[in-house]
Amino acid sequence: MLLKIVQTGEPVLRQQARELTPEEISSPEVRSLITLMRDTMRDAPGVGLAAPQVGVGLRLVVVEDRAEYQAALSAEELAARERKPVDFHVLINPRLVVEDPTPVEFHEGCLSVSGYMALVRRARGVRVEALNEHGAPVSLSARGWYARILQHELDHLDGTLYLDRMETRSFTSAENLRRHWAGKTVAQVREALGLPERRE
Ligand code: ZN
Repeated sequence: MLLKIVQTGEPVLRQQARELTPEEISSPEVRSLITLMRDTMRDAPGVGLAAPQVGVGLRLVVVEDRAEYQAALSAEELAARERKPVDFHVLINPRLVVEDPTPVEFHEGCLSVSGYMALVRRARGVRVEALNEHGAPVSLSARGWYARILQHELDHLDGTLYLDRMETRSFTSAENLRRHWAGKTVAQVREALGLPERRE
């Protein structure tokens, strides 16, 4: 069974999600929700899914970046994105601290803004403290693409979408991104769109 992924305009995507209690974390309902969110994320497919995206206003996200999702990217593209496989994991009541604020800009999409992408700047490195699906504390350090995924997913818990952070002129359908911008560097895309050069 899969859950319906709600699309932008659905009020839950703009609301502050609430924390789970220890009782909720160990409840059959939340255990079932986690399994369904995992299966829904894999079916989409996506590299992260936050509970508000399936219409549930709880501070819960699932993350997984499989090697097979990265097969379409060249070694250079993977290196530029600092993208490596990330095993499936669950983050409950997460808190995020930026460890490396160096801004990194790439195209990003969202399962709740289906079919579109845009350039979004994210911090290069973050630390996340959370609870796992067993209610045990976890602390993780992430950089590159994994740090981007975490920033994107945790934003969902505060009612924030990448649309709020994107370079608006770069907003494109995923099809047009493939058709017109594939293989171009972010600097080339920015120049073609008449965007100022980034000086970091
Ligand atoms: Zn999203």
